[in-house]
Amino acid sequence: MRLKTLPSEFQKALPILSRIKEAGYEAYFVGGSVRDAILERPIHDVDIATSAYPEEIKKIFPRTVDVGIEHGTVLVLVDEEEYEITTFRTEEAYVDFRRPSQVHFVRSLKEDLKRRDFTVNAFALNNDSEVIDLFGGLLDLEKKTLRAVGDAKERFNEDALRIMRGLRFVSSLGFSIEEKTFSAMMANAKLLEKISVERIFIELDKLLMAPFWRKGLEQLLSSDVYHFLPELKNSKESLQLMLDEMTPSFQFETSEQAWADLVMSLQVKSIKNFLKKWKTSNDFQKAVENLIAIYQIRLKRDVSRQDVYRFGKDTLYQVESLREAKSLTYDRERISNLDSELTIHDKSEIVVNGRQLMAQYQLSPGPRLGRILNDIETEIVEGHLENTQEEIFRFVERRLVIE
Ligand code: ATP
Ligand code: MG
Repeated sequence: MRLKTLPSEFQKALPILSRIKEAGYEAYFVGGSVRDAILERPIHDVDIATSAYPEEIKKIFPRTVDVGIEHGTVLVLVDEEEYEITTFRTEEAYVDFRRPSQVHFVRSLKEDLKRRDFTVNAFALNNDSEVIDLFGGLLDLEKKTLRAVGDAKERFNEDALRIMRGLRFVSSLGFSIEEKTFSAMMANAKLLEKISVERIFIELDKLLMAPFWRKGLEQLLSSDVYHFLPELKNSKESLQLMLDEMTPSFQFETSEQAWADLVMSLQVKSIKNFLKKWKTSNDFQKAVENLIAIYQIRLKRDVSRQDVYRFGKDTLYQVESLREAKSLTYDRERISNLDSELTIHDKSEIVVNGRQLMAQYQLSPGPRLGRILNDIETEIVEGHLENTQEEIFRFVERRLVIE
C-alpha cells in the first residue's frame, strides 16, 4: 500500500531518509505516526528507524545529541527540527519485567518491527510512501482491532506496560482488542505491579484524556486490570459510577479535571495520599484538590467573588463543565461576570506592599501586619476598597485607630 498524500511532517523529513540511504543504509518512518498517517489523523513525533548504528548516524549528520545512545537513539538536528533516529534493535528477555535486559542492534527491519507492541504500531514507511506491513496491521486497522505482534502472552509477559498501552490505544483509536490479545492482557495484569507508577500514570492519564475514554475505561474494568493499579483494587463499582454519572459525549478538558472526577468517584479518604501513591507532582495534587474543593462548594452554593479570585476562572469553569456533564445546574456566566468585576487577580497587583506599610506606620513584621494586608486584599476583591495608594493608606489608618 502506498500513502496517497504524505503528511507535511514526513515530507519535511524525507531528506533525512535520503541522506541515510545515500550513506548506504536503510531508513524508514516508524511507530505511531505511520499508523496515524494511514488513518489520516494528525501526526506528532516523526520517529525514524535505521540499519545504521548510532556512530554511523553521527558521521552522517553534523549536529546530533546523544539522547539514548544505549538504546540506539540519536537526536539529529536539521534546520529548526529535531528527529529521533533509532537503530533497528531487538530486545532480549525482560529479566525484571521492567526494561529489556539487553538491547541488540540489528541490520534487519523485520527484527525491529517484531519487537513492537501492536500490529497497528508495527508499520514502516519508506521514502516512496510505501507502507511496509509485516504483521497484518493494515487489515487490523480496517477492522479496528488491536492485536499484539507475535505471541500475545509472551509480549505482555516481557513488558506489562504494553497492557496499559493497549487500553490507552482503545481509548485513543476507539478500537476493540482481539480476543487472544485481551486474554493475554488479563493473564499478565499482575505484572503491572512491577512497572513504575509514573509510567502507568502516563498511560491511564492518556486513556482518560482520549476521545474514546469510556471504551478504554470499560475495557480496563472488564479485563480486571484495574485491580493491579495503585489504589484501584476492588473499585469496580466506583469506576462504573464514574461512567454512569457522565453524559456519554463528555470529554475531559484537562488531566486535573479527569483525575478530580476519578478521585471523587472513588470517594477516597485522602486525596493527597491517593495522588501520592500515583506519584504525581505537588502542583498536580494541589490543582486536583482545588477542583474538588470547588466542586464541594458548588454542591452547597454559587461561587463567590472570593472564589473567582482565589481559584481563578479557568478552574471554576472546569467544575461547571463537570456539573453539566453530570446533568447538574451550571452557570458559566456568573463566573465570567464576577471575573470581569475583579480589579485585581493577584496579590502582587496591589499597589501597596508590606514594606511600604511598615515604613509609613512604623509597623513591625508579624501577624498584625499580615492581618492588615489580608484585609486590604479582601476589601479590594470585594470591591469595597479602591486599589490606589491613597485609599489603601486611608483604610489602614482607620484600622489602626480602631485597634
Ligand atoms: P502516540 O501516538 O501516543 O505517540 P505511539 O504508537 O507513537 O503513540 P510511542 O510511545 O510514541 O507510541 O512509541 C512509538 C512506537 O514504539 C510505538 O508505535 C511502538 O511501535 C513502539 N513501542 C513503544 N513502546 C513500546 C513497548 N512498551 N513495547 C513495544 N513497542 C513499543
Ligand atoms: Mg509516538
